[in-house]
This record gives sequence, structure tokens and C-alpha cells, in this order.
Amino acid sequence: MTPLTGKTALVTGASRGIGQAIARRLAADGALVAVHYGSNDRAARQTVHLIEKDGGRAFPVRAELGVAGDVDILFAALEMGLLAGTGQGRLDILVNNAAITADSIEAITPEAFDRLIAVNTKAPLFITQRALPLLNDGGRIINLSAAATRIAMPEQPYAMSKAAIEVLSRSLAQVVGERGITVNAVAPGPTVTDMNPWMLDNPEVQQLVGSGNAIPRAGRPADVADVVAFLASEAGRWVTGQIIDASGGCFLGPRI
Ligand code: NAP
Repeated sequence: MTPLTGKTALVTGASRGIGQAIARRLAADGALVAVHYGSNDRAARQTVHLIEKDGGRAFPVRAELGVAGDVDILFAALEMGLLAGTGQGRLDILVNNAAITADSIEAITPEAFDRLIAVNTKAPLFITQRALPLLNDGGRIINLSAAATRIAMPEQPYAMSKAAIEVLSRSLAQVVGERGITVNAVAPGPTVTDMNPWMLDNPEVQQLVGSGNAIPRAGRPADVADVVAFLASEAGRWVTGQIIDASGGCFLGPRI
């Protein structure tokens, strides 16, 4: 029996990058995984295919976040998939992973900032609100933050959108602890995904980025997925309200 046998999980933004790695890992651990995505049908189908090829169970959930009715659309498809897969619409694990980046302070517009907050901050809040009645006692909420909240990086608006996620994680943990539900944030550093196109297929840039880490290489999606899997598992039951850095020690301090 695998650690998450009989459990259900929703991973937002699971068609690519870190979300895909999380979905694959939770499914490999035995969970039925709802693979949420925004628009890239092909990538979502590929994620479900990879999970099924490895013997896991998953179904796609398409819902663009940051637009009117987004949470309603997401939960209609989620509940249908859970019912079909388990006979009931209950959830054990929620991973709020979907997010976008934005320009820094010199270039960002009010419209772009509104969209950033709508996708990165408002959507996770209201997805969580809607998920809470569906979550079984002993459930897990894991929110993707970023090392950019801890380190000064030239992405102020993005870091602002993620700082709110950390506050939500800590304060919600206090509220749902009585139900045995844990809430944590996982904060990756620079990781090789589509979010950083300048790193893709570029070993030299990856090496340069990794040189700022205590473990001197760039992050990979599986590095982060394994931390999420720990928090989602029974072994993670006593960790709540925390921000878990998963960056290989990004900019810990000077190398002397
Ligand atoms: P990514 O490769 O760009 O993938 C983004 C995923 O989110 C895709 O599945 C995409 O769906 C979905 N998505 C994006 N905007 C959406 C929207 N408006 N509505 C619905 N779905 C949407 O991202 P990633 O690099 O894996 O990042 C995953 C998480 O880690 C994010 O929370 C990010 O902030 C955090 N993080 C990443 C890094 C990094 O260096 N990569 C560092 C720190 C933190 P489609 O395929 O349909 O577009």
C-alpha cells in the first residue's frame, strides 16, 4: 500500500512545471489527482497520460483563474471527477500551485497588477474557501510561495502576491487545526520550468543561477514535489503554519 492510497488531491496549475511534478508524485503515492490547468489542454492531457502510464489515477480540470466565475467552474468539474472516481465528492489534499509572474515596479501597470493578484492571491483564497467544506478532517492544504518573499529580488509585485499566501497559510493553520488539517507554504527558489524560459535548455544559465544556492545547482520541479509529498503524507501531520523553504539554500549568506 502506498502512503496516499484512498486519498484525493486537487493540484492547481498541474499541467506543467512544479505542479505537474507534484501531481505525478501524489499520484505515485496513491492519490486520485485532479490535474487543474488554465488553457493548455495538450499539456494537461500529457500530465494525466504520464500519471496513468505510471499506474496512477488522475483526471483533468480546466478552469482559467483570475476571471469571473473561475472558482465555480473549477469546483463543478472537480466534484464531477471526484464523484466519478470515488463515488463521493470529498477531498484530502489541496495544493494551490497555479501562479503567474509579472513585470517589476518600473514597468508593471495597474491592470497587470490586478491580474497578478487575481491569479496568485485571490484565486487561492477562494479556492481554499470552497475546498474547506469538502476537505476531510486530517486533510492538507499546501500553498506554493516563493523564495522571493525572503530575498530581495527584482520582482516586487510577484513577491507581494506570494507574501499574502504565506500570511494566509499561517493564519488559516490556526483556524483549521482543530480538524487535524495542516496548512503550510512551500517556497521554491529559481526552478527550471516554463516560468523561467531563460533557464530552459541553457545549462550555463542554470549553473549561474545555481551558484547562489548552498547546494550549487538550479532547482528542479521534483525537488519541490518531494517536499510537498512529505507535507501531504501522514509523516507531515505535525507540521503546520510553516513556510518551508525548498530552494537548496538560495542566498543563505556569503561563502567565506
Ligand atoms: P509554470 O511552469 O509556469 O506552470 C504554471 C501552471 O499554472 C500551468 O499548469 C498553467 O496552466 C497554470 N496557470 C497559470 N496561470 C493560470 C491561470 N490564470 N488559470 C489557471 N491556471 C493557470 O509554473 P511553475 O514554475 O511550475 O510554478 C509553480 C508554482 O511555483 C507557482 O506558484 C510559482 O509562483 C512557484 N514558484 C516557481 C518558481 C520557479 O522558479 N519556477 C520559483 C518560486 C516559486 P496552463 O498549462 O493551462 O497554462
